[in-house]
Amino acid sequence: MNPTIAEPAAETGAPKSSLTNASFAEIAEVLRGYESFAVISHVRPDGDALGCQIATGLVLRKLGKKVRVWNEEGLLEKFSFFPGGDIVTLPPNEPEDFDVVLALDTATRQRLGTPLQSIRSAKVWINIDHHPSNPRYGDLVYIDPTAPATGQILFELLQSQDLPLDKEIAENLFAAISTDTGSFQYPNTTARTFEIAADILRCGINVGRLSQQLYESYPRRRIELLRVLLDRMRFDAEGKVASFSLPLATANELGVIPEDNEGLIDHLRAIQGVIVAIFFEELADGKVRVSMRSKDERADVCEICLRFKGGGHKLAAGARVPGRLEEVAEQVIAAAVASVESLSR
Ligand code: 5GP
Ligand code: MN
Repeated sequence: MNPTIAEPAAETGAPKSSLTNASFAEIAEVLRGYESFAVISHVRPDGDALGCQIATGLVLRKLGKKVRVWNEEGLLEKFSFFPGGDIVTLPPNEPEDFDVVLALDTATRQRLGTPLQSIRSAKVWINIDHHPSNPRYGDLVYIDPTAPATGQILFELLQSQDLPLDKEIAENLFAAISTDTGSFQYPNTTARTFEIAADILRCGINVGRLSQQLYESYPRRRIELLRVLLDRMRFDAEGKVASFSLPLATANELGVIPEDNEGLIDHLRAIQGVIVAIFFEELADGKVRVSMRSKDERADVCEICLRFKGGGHKLAAGARVPGRLEEVAEQVIAAAVASVESLSR
């Protein structure tokens, strides 16, 4: 394989990309054959991103490899119970050389964030993901948009290739799949997802305890934030579009941290009649983080977010849009209204 030099923050990344997926056997050969690995994932990591990063880090450690698991935000407080989570660190200031970089669950190279600057060189880039908008950056690419979570793809890789799969690794993959499927509720949850969940349970994990840590251990400030957001709730298109927004000043007053708001958008989606739910978060860098959910594939929120230079999936997508909170909200809501109104025509 030709050496590939990491270019920091380039939109589509490494020069080589393929239209067909690499085989699990090819990926496993690289994991077994090389010595040093960086395992990275997207900014604002979710359970799928961190679960996959930790699981992969543990697998590589068991194979006796030198491994770095870096995320721009390190291990989030709310995921600090993930077994083996201390393997995740912030990227160092001094860049390092690697044989292999594994980018997991990350729709664009740019969304890998600051860890890119800590990778001086790598011989092989592996890109494993389930976002349909992924431009297939990297040398060995495995994108399966039908997989509800990257954790599901990783499980299939480990199981089919006889790679290490112990209780700790299984717990991380369960957390990845559970969080990205909304606890096995979203429509991309398939029979295969339940089969894999069953196989994971057979690795000896305690699903009750894990689910309690994931879904019943929120800090009180998160619910106080929800109270404020519900107060700011807005409906458009006769209730088909629901949204709320979080000004930076409010976030500061409440003392919330970015990870506190993840999933609060589900309260909007859960309302009868709502097709598109939108959450706007004013960021300190002059941009607005837009988070969108849809209950109808014809109201494709990935398509809307792509227009604002974001991406994601048909039913869950996002973007970071420069501009004032109110202005961005008006533009994005208008696009969502047009999308849901075109459904009834
Ligand atoms: P969330 O709303 O939970 O932040 O993101 C929902 C989905 O949209 C995730 O799958 C995420 O990868 C994708 N997404 C969120 N923000 C962005 C963005 O700024 N750019 C791209 N390309 N995808 C995003
Ligand atoms: Mn994911």
